[in-house]
Amino acid sequence: MDRIDVLVVGSGFGGSVAALRLAEKGYRVTVLEAGRRFADTDLASGPWQLHRVLWAPRIGMRGIIRVRVRRRLIVLTGIGVGGGSLAYAGVHYRPDPEVFQAAGWDRSVDWSSELDPWFARAEQMLGTTTVPDLSPGDQALRRTANALGAVETFHPTRVGIDFSSCTLCGHCTTGCRTGAKNTLAKNYLRLAGQVGARVHPLAEVTKLRPRSDGWDVYTRDRVWHAKHVVLAAGAWGTTELLRRSALPGLSPALGTRMCTNGERLYVTRAKVGDGVAISSAFRPDAATTVQLCRIGPGQIAFLNAMARDDHLVSHYGRVTVKFMEQIGSRAWAALPVTGHPLGGCPLGTNPATSVADLRHRVHGYPTLHIADGSTIPHNLGVNPALTITAMAERAFAMWEDA
Ligand SMILES: Cc1cc2nc3c(=O)[nH]c(=O)nc-3n(C[C@H](O)[C@H](O)[C@H](O)COP(=O)(O)OP(=O)(O)OC[C@H]3O[C@@H](n4cnc5c(N)ncnc54)[C@H](O)[C@@H]3O)c2cc1C
Repeated sequence: MDRIDVLVVGSGFGGSVAALRLAEKGYRVTVLEAGRRFADTDLASGPWQLHRVLWAPRIGMRGIIRVRVRRRLIVLTGIGVGGGSLAYAGVHYRPDPEVFQAAGWDRSVDWSSELDPWFARAEQMLGTTTVPDLSPGDQALRRTANALGAVETFHPTRVGIDFSSCTLCGHCTTGCRTGAKNTLAKNYLRLAGQVGARVHPLAEVTKLRPRSDGWDVYTRDRVWHAKHVVLAAGAWGTTELLRRSALPGLSPALGTRMCTNGERLYVTRAKVGDGVAISSAFRPDAATTVQLCRIGPGQIAFLNAMARDDHLVSHYGRVTVKFMEQIGSRAWAALPVTGHPLGGCPLGTNPATSVADLRHRVHGYPTLHIADGSTIPHNLGVNPALTITAMAERAFAMWEDA
């Protein structure tokens, strides 16, 4: 059996960065991914092809989004080779510097300046660009911002989409079939494969066991051995896997600092015009971002709101009503949905309050590493994928060559 230096659990943002950067440093890297591998043409033509959108294999659904319902909250996460990038809208934000002053961020690092170069690298790798044209829906959002006295904050979004091949079909979140969305399979994972990393789809890890020379990692039909393990199964997946593995001496902070990024969805039926899934945004106050989203061409639109603090969500209703006036629609529904579960494994120097150290190594287990949304301890108030990518770039840059 081939020797594995580093076994990465999950092929989303954190896992893909791990695969590329560690393979570049000469480690033999294997990635285990719970979901399928998709060609662009395997993806759904639209939301009506539910069996290609959702992941529930017991009832024949083998798509890209896993749905969990907990305490009246619906949590959506990406699944498949490329993780959340398969279903994400491709929106990239750098959070405000004040975000890193919130509870949970270890104060011994100046995260804002420390992450600055890694944000730049993440944007370059993910192909960030600005949405070039505004649709009628975007114009309505701009008028909404104006009516609420915040027009100077209105902006077209920054996205990882190649507009030379994008057809503006609006199906980014049910799967981009044109190849225009820069999923991780097209950047980090492709490059990781070129330097020797291997990705195994349909390999869900069920538990980990430490051994004298590294780790035993269990999937349904195999036990894998590796010197190092990188947990990159997402905030939910990594926290759950650590709980299930019941490693002695893990920090009591495991499972703390979990949050939803203050996310709320307001769905409406209105003509918003063609465009990418999330095409513009504004900020009704300094801590809140409201984005215009669409599924497919034009008719189903929703406002996605995120807040740095959960108590700020109350005024979203007011924003939605104003938007309805501008777009000429009356029907809408508020949905308790998030696609941004975060936290569960905060980083820090104190094992009583953090699961892993500032180099992302689990306290007490120096060959066990965490690189995903579980290390973000507080709402960012903006879409998190770029921050997860930047944090992972920072973490793996600190590894020695193999
Ligand atoms: C519909 C939708 C749209 C979104 N749009 C945006 C957006 O535009 N911009 C943005 O910033 N964010 C967006 N997000 C959120 C973004 O996708 C996540 O924040 C991001 O993917 C999290 O990255 P991660 O590295 O933590 O884990 P993920 O990208 O979620 O990757 C984790 C991977 O681990 C795998 N896994 C889990 N458990 C196991 C296991 N036990 N064994 C093996 N593999 C496992 C999963 O299948 C998954 O592939 C969106 C989310 C959704 C659902």
